[in-house]
Amino acid sequence: MLARPGLPSFDYVRASTPDEVLHLLDEHGAEVRLMMGGTDLLVRMRQGDVRPRFVVDVKHLPGMRDIRFDEVRGLTVGAAVTMNQLAGHADVREHYSLLADAARSVASYQLRNRATLGGNLCNASPCADTAPATLVLDGRACLYGPGGEREVTATEFFLGPGKTAMQPGEFLTAIRYPVPPFDSAGRYLKLGRSKLGDLSLVGVAILGFSDGTASSGYRFRIGLGSVAPVPLLAREAEAVLATSALCEETLALAARKAMETAMPIDDVRAGAVYQKAMVRTLTLRGLREVWVWLQSTQSRSR
Ligand SMILES: Cc1cc2nc3c(=O)[nH]c(=O)nc-3n(C[C@H](O)[C@H](O)[C@H](O)COP(=O)(O)OP(=O)(O)OC[C@H]3O[C@@H](n4cnc5c(N)ncnc54)[C@H](O)[C@@H]3O)c2cc1C
Repeated sequence: MLARPGLPSFDYVRASTPDEVLHLLDEHGAEVRLMMGGTDLLVRMRQGDVRPRFVVDVKHLPGMRDIRFDEVRGLTVGAAVTMNQLAGHADVREHYSLLADAARSVASYQLRNRATLGGNLCNASPCADTAPATLVLDGRACLYGPGGEREVTATEFFLGPGKTAMQPGEFLTAIRYPVPPFDSAGRYLKLGRSKLGDLSLVGVAILGFSDGTASSGYRFRIGLGSVAPVPLLAREAEAVLATSALCEETLALAARKAMETAMPIDDVRAGAVYQKAMVRTLTLRGLREVWVWLQSTQSRSR
C-alpha cells in the first residue's frame, strides 16, 4: 500500500450547460461528484472517502465565475468564484469587506487560486471560513435543479457536517448577498493553529450597523464557525446588543452569551473549553473594533 495513495480512476466531464449537469445527475446519481476547485473533493477521493465514477467540472458553466454588484440588488457571486477573486474584488472589498476578509483567511495564496466560495459552502464543513460571513451578511444559496431555480437562506442551507439543504439532482450556481445596511461595519476574526493557512479552530464574523428600531440604536449580527456541527448565529448575544445601551459591559456580556451559544467538542485540534474561551475573546475583540468604527462614522456624520 502506498503511504500517499494516488487518485482512483474516474471519468472527467467538463460540463458546458446547466442542463447537461442535471442530465448527468439524473442518469448516474450517486456515481457523480461535482467539482469546482477540487481542493476538498480531490483530497477526499485520494483518501478513499469518496469514489465517484464521474467527476463533473461545473466551473465553466455560464456565470459561475462572475461577480456582479448592483446598489439595489446587492452582490451575486458565481459559485465557482475563487477566494482570491473574491478577496481582491473592488465592490466586495468596499461593500462586503467581511466576506473579503473571510476569503483572504483561507489557507495559502496558491490554494485560494483554486478554492471557490461555492465549494467552501457546499462542503459544509463546520470550519468553512466563508460560512459565518455568509450567515451574517444574509447570503442566499441559488440552486438549480429539475424543478428550476430556487433560493435557500444561509441559515437553512447548513444541516450538519457535510450536509446541506441541496436536494439530490440540484447544484449550487451562485450566492446572493443583499446590500448591507448603510454605514455597517464588519470583521472576521479567525484563530488557527498557525497563521499560515490553517483551518480555523474558531471563526467569528461580526456585522454592526445603526438601527433606530433597536432600543440600543444598533444591531449586530454574530456568526460563529468551527464550534458546532453547523455555523451558527449567536442570537442571544445579538439580542443583548440590540436592547442594552452600548458600553464595555454590554460588549462583554454579549461576548459571554456568544460563548454560551458555542457547542464545540474536544478533538485532535483543540479542546472544547479552549474553543469556548476563544469564542468569547474573539467576539469581544471584534465587537470592540466594530463599535469603535460605528462611533467614528457617527461623529463624522454629525
Ligand atoms: C491544504 C488545505 C487547506 C485548507 N484550508 C482551508 C481554510 O483555511 N479554510 C477553509 O474554509 N477551508 C480550507 N480548506 C478547504 C477547501 O480548500 C475549501 O473548502 C474550498 O473553498 C473548497 O472549494 P473547491 O472549489 O475546491 O471545492 P471542491 O473540492 O471542488 O468541492 C467541494 C464539495 O462541493 C461539491 N460541489 C462542488 N461544486 C458544487 C456545486 N456547484 N454544487 C453542489 N456541490 C458542489 C463537491 O462535490 C465537493 O463535495 C483547505 C483545504 C486544503 C486542501
